[in-house]
Amino acid sequence: MMLEHREGGCHCGRVRFRAGVDLDLLSQCNCTVCTKKGILHLPVVPEDFELLRGKNALTVYTFGTGVAQHTFCSHCGMHAFYIPRSQPDRITVNARCLDGIDGPSLKPTHFFDGRHWEEAQRRRIAEGGHAPATGLNGEVTLKAILDRTAE
Ligand SMILES: [Zn+2]
Repeated sequence: MMLEHREGGCHCGRVRFRAGVDLDLLSQCNCTVCTKKGILHLPVVPEDFELLRGKNALTVYTFGTGVAQHTFCSHCGMHAFYIPRSQPDRITVNARCLDGIDGPSLKPTHFFDGRHWEEAQRRRIAEGGHAPATGLNGEVTLKAILDRTAE
């Protein structure tokens, strides 16, 4: 595990973050929303994530269980980070939104079969992935991030 501290953000620059990321954890998910977004996931613990600005630019999209908080910039539409259903006590940074990233060079090494979510979650945890407490909603994690951001 090699944490690199990097900054990133949405396209228009209203949403900016700093995060400790491990590019070896790059993962891809085939669920309906991740497929459409084209997101490449990097899991980050809340202690290693700081929203630098953009709290008022963010809109949240939810669907299904409502656990995941799909945040995006309401001006440019980019999903720079979000709170995932599989680990609602953590943040997922979109590797494509890190500064200085060459998109096509990003090669995901992990795969989450989000189309079969329950089974994929069981497998991820069985393989040593973080097991969140049951009944968590990503809203709590998102609120904590927004609460410590000035604007
Ligand atoms: Zn934007």
